[in-house]
Amino acid sequence: MRILLHACCGPCLLEPFDDLASEHDVTVCYANPNIQPLAEYRRRLETLLEYADQQSIEVVEESYDPVQWMRAVAGIEDDPERRCAACYRLRIGMTARRAAAEGYDAVATTLTVSPYQNVEAITEAAEEVCAAAGVRFLVTDYRERYPEATRRSRELGMYRQNYCGCLLSDIEAHREREERRARRAARG
Ligand code: SF4
Repeated sequence: MRILLHACCGPCLLEPFDDLASEHDVTVCYANPNIQPLAEYRRRLETLLEYADQQSIEVVEESYDPVQWMRAVAGIEDDPERRCAACYRLRIGMTARRAAAEGYDAVATTLTVSPYQNVEAITEAAEEVCAAAGVRFLVTDYRERYPEATRRSRELGMYRQNYCGCLLSDIEAHREREERRARRAARG
């Protein structure tokens, strides 16, 4: 099958790509208007492109328009469950429409390698937008491969971000780190 694989970043690409490419013809689609700020978007893209170049992996980039993401999550910014579902629909939906227009057989996403993401919500969102676009969604759950993805990305010296993508997730991740630090300090 020809698969258009939505990828969020280089480290998350490693394991899903290898798995899918062992059986299919895979093109990578960087569709991530959720990533803020622009410098971070570029840094993640450059990390992914550097690896793709080394491995002769074909990559297409969707346009970067963070206003699209802002519109998608407007009114639900402070509800992470609904906000992230809308974000998944936006990014995988962009990939699905390209896949349908360019005659791919199926769409998949690297998001399911991350234990920090909600795989069930990703699958539900992806099935919805892929059905609307008229393209098959390949259901995956790569969470078991996350330790290997971490090991390989470290070995390759890849940039590894410490927040999901949007500015809200940057703030949330910062707060969680502060809370963990405070708990450790309280334990002595
Ligand atoms: S936390 Fe991640 S998945 Fe959720 S809205 Fe922000 S960028 Fe999207």
